[in-house]
Amino acid sequence: MSKVDKQTKVAVCSRSFSRNPVLRAELLARYTQVTFNDVGAQLAGDSLVDFLKGHEKAITALEVIDDYVLSRLPDLQVIGKYGVGLDMIDLAAMRAHGKRLGWTGGVNKRSVSELVISFAIAMLRHVMAANREVLAGTWRQHVGGYLSGRTVGVIGCGHIGKDLVSLLKPFGCPVLVHDIVDYPEFYARHAIEPVTLEELLARSDVVTLHVPLDDSTRELLSAERLALLRPTAILINTARGGLVDEIALKKMLQNQRLAAAGFDVFAQEPPQDAQLLSLPNFLATPHIGGSAAEAILAMGRAAINGLDEHDLPGTNS
Ligand code: NAD
Repeated sequence: MSKVDKQTKVAVCSRSFSRNPVLRAELLARYTQVTFNDVGAQLAGDSLVDFLKGHEKAITALEVIDDYVLSRLPDLQVIGKYGVGLDMIDLAAMRAHGKRLGWTGGVNKRSVSELVISFAIAMLRHVMAANREVLAGTWRQHVGGYLSGRTVGVIGCGHIGKDLVSLLKPFGCPVLVHDIVDYPEFYARHAIEPVTLEELLARSDVVTLHVPLDDSTRELLSAERLALLRPTAILINTARGGLVDEIALKKMLQNQRLAAAGFDVFAQEPPQDAQLLSLPNFLATPHIGGSAAEAILAMGRAAINGLDEHDLPGTNS
């Protein structure tokens, strides 16, 4: 860890970090000159530049850090990343501007993997539709099905995918995995079958996405790929909007061509498609995957450490 100058000016863009008294106290114990995002607005473009101006270090979450922003922030040296996704940070621009990044993987994996289990069971047991009916005064039985024994297809078997596999153990679900990286020991230990993406889509009862959003994964589940899903299948996206063709998905849900879908993330957040959001077989949450209280602390502490232990991923600089 580099020597900490307590007077270094630090800005915290993340609203959930700024709201957390434990994280505030821990950061203030290390740095005395801290500007928190207490206004509660999501910062972007010029408002982000204005907020960060004059600070040498910053903690960012979902804020877009690109060439436009970085070229206007000559004082900024280091970003400590709150949360594991890096798709909102232009790493090439970071390198070009000589900025450094402190990032730790996996800090919110349990928070996401538990949400996936809750989505799967809620959809398989028709919890959303049943709840709507109760609220509307209808009392009738819904016949759902078990998660136990159903084939789960995990797209992306990194920190979250692996954690999910461990949580699925007691359900006795056969697990199929598709990943561009091979994890033979993990697969052998958990009796996982690695398959192509197409095979996973065609054979799974529950399909769940755990890949980052980048050029290799954008619209990974295109209309053509979605068409490979079984009509009885359910699809879960707690990874990133932009991985799934949401228009094609909506049509499939409307036509009962797919049993249900649960999304925590959307191409545009908040999502604007009222038709999709109002479907009884669609479950939506507002990007809460990584934000269990325990994960907020873990992400915040990783971001604080990232201010002093930093490197751009994939480089030795
Ligand atoms: P990770 O980097 O540990 O794992 C990602 C896995 O995806 C890796 O095994 C990688 O090899 C694989 N992968 C990458 N590109 C691929 C491709 N084209 N095809 C198949 N596999 C590919 O990341 P993680 O911690 O498991 O998180 C996964 C993603 O979940 C993050 O990138 C983030 O976008 C998202 N996430 C969302 C929330 C939320 O609040 N909803 C919280 C945490 C993470």
